[in-house]
Amino acid sequence: MARVYNFSAGPAVLPEEVLKEAAEEMMDYRGSGMSVMEMSHRSKTYDNIIKEAEADLRDLLNIPDNYKVLFLQGGASQQFAMIPMNLMKNKKAGYIVTGQWAKKAYQEAKIYGEAIELASSADETFSYIPDCSDLDIPDDVDYVYICENNTIYGTKFKELPNTKGHLLISDVSSCFLSEPMDVEKYGVIYGGVQKNIGPAGVVIAIIREDLITDDVLPGTPTMLKYKIHADNESLYNTPPAYGIYICGKVFKWIKKQGGLAAMKEYNEKKAAILYDFLDESKLFKGTVRKEDRSLMNVPFITGSDELDAKFIKEAKEAGFENLKGHRSVGGMRASIYNAMPIEGVEKLVAFMKEFEANNA
Ligand SMILES: *Cc1c(COP(=O)(O)O)cnc(C)c1O
Repeated sequence: MARVYNFSAGPAVLPEEVLKEAAEEMMDYRGSGMSVMEMSHRSKTYDNIIKEAEADLRDLLNIPDNYKVLFLQGGASQQFAMIPMNLMKNKKAGYIVTGQWAKKAYQEAKIYGEAIELASSADETFSYIPDCSDLDIPDDVDYVYICENNTIYGTKFKELPNTKGHLLISDVSSCFLSEPMDVEKYGVIYGGVQKNIGPAGVVIAIIREDLITDDVLPGTPTMLKYKIHADNESLYNTPPAYGIYICGKVFKWIKKQGGLAAMKEYNEKKAAILYDFLDESKLFKGTVRKEDRSLMNVPFITGSDELDAKFIKEAKEAGFENLKGHRSVGGMRASIYNAMPIEGVEKLVAFMKEFEANNA
């Protein structure tokens, strides 16, 4: 068995312990005589799996009792529509556009009402987070929307925007469970799990209870109402059952690592190895304003498309996979999610040093 160091932005690396456990339970899940994949989602055994996953997630994030946890499908992209359909009562919402995912959410919201761009960092290719301490926010917006960690550009909100009393909605797909969060500051927190938590096909939404109502935009399909999923504890229809089971294992793995505070410390240590090198390198450089750097996605360039391509090719041959930057920005990007071991980053930096010496 040869595992590579996988720097993919998503679907992405998962903890080896989790994969091994899942492999062991593949043919016979704990005496049930079947795989979790083959199991009724209405069975007692599966009910325990989904309940335990939720309980562990609540523990990790300290989710208050007045927030619901929903396991949904449709990818993070489906939330771009579900959020306005369920929450745009005044048909007006503010969006902070810090990258492609935020922009897609903003454009989707325009289908349902008036979406207002409150701030943007498009002027400098989304390489920074705009100052959101005193935005001009109309009084009647239903919510303020952010993408908290910008997967493609490698920026992260280190401080939440001042929403001036309005609801905050956050897409945390690529920083989910990478550090502690104060859930009470948000109306909705959601993320696709394929970046930092599990296999593609599951989206987790954490929603303040009073926001879950039947008062949705006319024409909202049943499957896109938060209330139907909340009333049925994520079992209105067949959920992405196997994916949720893997997420549950990852929650337990994170608890074993010491929880989110420990995860943050580890992630900071890991990211610093790469950022410190980028700051001193004569060949490679980071593309993001220092104070806005993500702990999870680290984009960098050499300044030459040719050298970038050479680096990506040689890195792949050396066992470092998926370092190519997003097709919209080029260059390189190392995604170093929770499950990327520190050795992976150390070895990548050693390889970059060698490449720099050989190509000076
Ligand atoms: C990947 C990603 C998305 C899109 O996720 P899908 O599950 O493919 O729809 C949305 N937002 C962020 C921040 C992402 O990283």
